[in-house]
Amino acid sequence: MTVLIDKKLRPSQALRHPEKANKPDTDVLRKPAWIRVKAPTSKGFAKTRKIVRDKGLVTVCQEAACPNIGECWEKAHATFMLLGDTCTRACAFCNIKTGLPGPVNPAEAGEIANAVVEMGLKHVVITSVDRDDLVDGGAAHFVDTIKAIREKSPATTIEILTPDFLRQSGAAEIVIDAKPDVFNHNLETVPRLYLSIRPGARYYHSLRLLERVKERDPDQFTKSGLMVGLGESKQEIMQVMDDMRVAGVEFLTIGQYLQPTRKHAAVKRFVTPDEFKAYETIARAKGFLMVSATPLTRSSYHADADFAKLRTARQEKNLANKRH
Ligand code: SF4
Repeated sequence: MTVLIDKKLRPSQALRHPEKANKPDTDVLRKPAWIRVKAPTSKGFAKTRKIVRDKGLVTVCQEAACPNIGECWEKAHATFMLLGDTCTRACAFCNIKTGLPGPVNPAEAGEIANAVVEMGLKHVVITSVDRDDLVDGGAAHFVDTIKAIREKSPATTIEILTPDFLRQSGAAEIVIDAKPDVFNHNLETVPRLYLSIRPGARYYHSLRLLERVKERDPDQFTKSGLMVGLGESKQEIMQVMDDMRVAGVEFLTIGQYLQPTRKHAAVKRFVTPDEFKAYETIARAKGFLMVSATPLTRSSYHADADFAKLRTARQEKNLANKRH
């Protein structure tokens, strides 16, 4: 068994997070057995890596040092990251490089569409770094990518995991109007922890973004995710679930926060698999159509299979409503 997450801030990582370089080191809790994953060694993994490299694409799987990369890439399930590898925010939980990004690559949308075809993806997840330097926060680039995939691979369903577009007016609307199948925007944590964990974002703005998707296009599935283990209470998580339901969110993901380096926010505790099960039960009782809550759940983990379940759940709910 191998643990993929680095504990020390190596010189290369210090360059990835210059704003964190002078922060004091935090203690790193020893990971419990249920967090450990296998090293990525399969042929499928190597094939996915080659496609990603050859096309010069960026994935959140690599940039965020996701522990699931071996399992996901073996099944050709990679989550593409638009707009480069450098983020203009500096969230306390995130391993993505921070700094001033380069210019937008206009060929990126086409290359991602080509990769979708080459990998034979039935369902693709597209995310991006935060691009607060762009007037639309990168919204138009999401639209171009959705269009390029629709053109080259019309049967592929598209899930987007967006930033908040820096509250730019009209930005989210053009993305909603491009009609992705799933619109995901993560709330990440409870409102009390926003200033320390997600200082560049505002809880109610993120919540309102999800609500606006439903108002503008009620058929579009909405999804959001939380990390746990950052010091939140169970009551706070339940309040966020209620907020999401009021905003019409249908799919909830909850996973364990893992600390990328000693300079990032510390893991306060490891939530047990039984506690995750309890969160799932509560979330389903609150009306979410689909819930994925396990220690290794990430927004895009098993996204293809879960999308099929989500669609089925909505059909069943609609049928049941008709009967009553
Ligand atoms: S869970 Fe998502 S980010 Fe992690 S490896 Fe799988 S597809 Fe990539």
